[in-house]
Amino acid sequence: MDLYEYQGKQYFARFGIPTSPGGVASTAEEAVAVADRTGYPVVVKAQVKVGGRGKAGGIKLAGDAEEARAHASAILGMDIKGHTVQRVWIERSSDIAREWYASFTLDRSAKKHLCMVSAKGGVDIEEVAASDPGAIVRRHVDPVDGLSADVALSIVDEAGLAAGSGLAGDDARGVAREAADLLVKLYTCYVEGDCDLAEINPLILTTDGRVHALDAKVTLDDNASFRHPEWSEMASDDDLDERERLARAKGLQYVGLDGFVGIIANGAGLAMSTCDVVEQVGGKPANFLDIGGGANADQMANALEVINSDHNVRSIFINIFGGITRGEEVANGIVQALGRVELRSPIVIRLDGTNAEEGRAILAGHGSERLVSSPTMIEAAQKATELAGGTLK
Ligand code: GDP
Ligand code: MG
Repeated sequence: MDLYEYQGKQYFARFGIPTSPGGVASTAEEAVAVADRTGYPVVVKAQVKVGGRGKAGGIKLAGDAEEARAHASAILGMDIKGHTVQRVWIERSSDIAREWYASFTLDRSAKKHLCMVSAKGGVDIEEVAASDPGAIVRRHVDPVDGLSADVALSIVDEAGLAAGSGLAGDDARGVAREAADLLVKLYTCYVEGDCDLAEINPLILTTDGRVHALDAKVTLDDNASFRHPEWSEMASDDDLDERERLARAKGLQYVGLDGFVGIIANGAGLAMSTCDVVEQVGGKPANFLDIGGGANADQMANALEVINSDHNVRSIFINIFGGITRGEEVANGIVQALGRVELRSPIVIRLDGTNAEEGRAILAGHGSERLVSSPTMIEAAQKATELAGGTLK
């Protein structure tokens, strides 16, 4: 789950990471009330889950209530890269001396956490990585060891944060220690807060020598949600499309895509392979949908309903590999589901694994040009693409 900046900052605050005082607003009136409380000047920031808001006109400085109202009115409802701004975050404006970058994420291939720090913050970090890779310090952190204050300080020093701050002597050491302290807190937030990503860009040094987070990009690890009942308050579905909203309500693992072959498979790996195979033969997947274990009539009907609601779908490819779930159960589930959902598109089914023969026999009894059974994945993908009117490769 990706958090909005304001949620990320609230999350940071729980781990003692300094941020500016502020509040969230969804109308211009609320924005002025928050700004009055916060004290001027304030920054009015569009809350959308994409970067580059500044360039898009979604971040404005306001010196008084009138300006706060004008900026909030202009930003609320604004479209930023396809996201409509529904809320603004208002915070006390900071006087920036330096903009840095800091993040923690998981490096799966190294099986370690990855800490990245750079003195070149405030800009797209991918750009820095491409144009000046040496400017980013990358340090792996073994989850068993954790991140000590000393190691954090060595990262900060290697990135040259204090050295490039314009400060010298004790002042520079103080800033380095403050940045290192913040880095340890960010690591704690990342680990104990079960984040996939905890990123601050920019992490700033203020003109009066304080270090704090001016932006927050936090992705929570959904697999840890059972440990965090409080996360449900932050869950929002306003960044989902209509199909994804419906799928979430039905508890399905669904990701909307922009093709025309609807896909249902059991298991995330098989669902991904199914998308790949459809692409391989010249089709375009309309979605990823993992129906999970069981694949009973209820789940199947729910899945078909979601796919049926997508008007780009012209054929449906059901790819089920029977493991513990037996083929005839799956086939019965499909037949029952078809009795419940009136489909606009033809279905191609590839059933394999445990009791596949029995399953196919059941499906054969219901076969028509609208319900086709195909023994292999590639043939099924070809058939589904053909039925959708796609051009085969
Ligand atoms: P993003 O572009 O969507 O990542 O939004 P950020 O929150 O990172 O802000 C972008 C830029 O706006 C920052 O790098 C700053 O240069 C500027 N900015 C944001 N807040 C303030 C502030 O309080 N004071 C000043 N002077 N600039 C700010
Ligand atoms: Mg930013």
